[in-house]
Amino acid sequence: MSHDGQAEHLKRYIRDVPDFPKPGILFRDITPLLRDRQAFDEAIERFAQRYRGQQLDAVVAIESRGFVVGAAVASRLKIGLVPVRKRGKLPHRTHQERCTLEYGEDVLEIHQDALAADERVLLMDDVLATGGTMGAAVRLAQRLQAQVVEIAFLLELTALQGRQKLTPHQIFSLVQY
Ligand code: AMP
Repeated sequence: MSHDGQAEHLKRYIRDVPDFPKPGILFRDITPLLRDRQAFDEAIERFAQRYRGQQLDAVVAIESRGFVVGAAVASRLKIGLVPVRKRGKLPHRTHQERCTLEYGEDVLEIHQDALAADERVLLMDDVLATGGTMGAAVRLAQRLQAQVVEIAFLLELTALQGRQKLTPHQIFSLVQY
């Protein structure tokens, strides 16, 4: 387990929106963090510092807020990005995995030729809630026989115990609630 308490001050840039997108969900809105040049830069740089020198081949990021952080981190590390998208969005041949969400159910896809066997990848999304979404992304990366080096999130909602669902993979989150 690796938590990084030093990023606590970034919570100032996370807005809580009650009852979105459904009653009873407390939505953690990262748009103020994205809007602030220093906070956004700091968040991306913290990931980059952690993963520089890890010989990663690609960041695998989940639609759609995962793309925002994943693409920025990949670019800073000078490596490529592999999108994991909701069903029907990727144009070429895909693998599919089903996932259960905090608010619904979905099918995620990855292009069959997106990664070669043994490539070292970092999986990224904005928020770790129940871990259902990331679990499906892990299975997609594994179907391509990639090596999941670590799984990283901006925010982790610890009460939902998503980490357990992602065992035995290494999990890193910048900010925990
Ligand atoms: P889960 O599969 O339950 O871990 O849900 C993760 C996905 O849903 C992530 O892509 C998040 O963007 C989104 N999500 C789930 N719960 C929240 C929340 N309370 N606030 C913001 N985003 C959330």
